Amino acid sequence: MRDCALSGPLYHQENTLAGILFIISAPSGSGKSTLVNQLRSLVTNLEFSVSYTTRAPRGSEQQDREYHYTSPARFQEMIDRGEFLEWASVFGNYYGTACRSLTDAQAAGKDLLLDIDVQGAAQVQEKIKDAVSIFVLPPTPEELQMRLRNRSVAEGSLDEEEIARRLAKARGEIEAYRRYRYILVNDKLDYAVESLKAIVIAERARRDGAPQDPETARMMQLADKCRQANATDRLEPVLASFGLVDMHAARA
Ligand code: ADP
Ligand code: 5GP
Repeated sequence: MRDCALSGPLYHQENTLAGILFIISAPSGSGKSTLVNQLRSLVTNLEFSVSYTTRAPRGSEQQDREYHYTSPARFQEMIDRGEFLEWASVFGNYYGTACRSLTDAQAAGKDLLLDIDVQGAAQVQEKIKDAVSIFVLPPTPEELQMRLRNRSVAEGSLDEEEIARRLAKARGEIEAYRRYRYILVNDKLDYAVESLKAIVIAERARRDGAPQDPETARMMQLADKCRQANATDRLEPVLASFGLVDMHAARA
């Protein structure tokens, strides 16, 4: 299998991008798409990668807007041609990020946000060391179940089996939170959106190294609270509600 050639003029040095690559992951139904959609209207110069998937469009989703919907055979051809930065099988379907998303964003001088699962995130983190990773958590399993059900009803396709599969998978996915730089608990939507925006602004400001105006300083403080090491108070009740003991915190 060939792979994206991660070198050349778009890169400062091997495995380091000129722009910022943000990765956001969450158990399905946590509200990640809702957060990302709101972020779109709040920050400029951030491209949102449209993934390829073999799953069918849901509800009001449109070809080339939410995803590039494709057949398993075409997806396999793209794998064989080394056209993916990462790809994974999620809930029985294939999902992948085209290398093209990255090179296009770099050529346009924009930062890029990838909304991908924990398997894909691990692949990207391996290849691009300075990617900024964000993990979104639902407050409790009960709330997650309710969100999955509400979304399903809103899309006119209540599929209890699919909801059960996604819920069952959530616990395992949540354990991957340790590999992410930032943690967002999506209980109050407005606060979670503000925190996500703060992370983008803070990471940009950190790299620019420019003097901070008061608003940027406020954003940097908010982002700092979401750093994994500083988010223990928010994280622990969520882990407990999913029956997960935070071994890192227990050892500390
Ligand atoms: P994901 O992209 O993580 O699978 P969605 O963004 O589709 O999740 O959200 C799942 C459902 O939860 C949607 O119906 C959405 O409106 C709802 N939702 C998202 N965030 C919140 C929140 N903070 N409080 C209550 N409901 C939310
Ligand atoms: P959904 O079917 O609900 O849109 O997405 C299911 C899961 O697939 C989500 O966790 C989403 O982040 C993930 N996903 C979407 N696009 C990609 C991708 O390109 N690569 C990987 N690895 N996961 C993706």
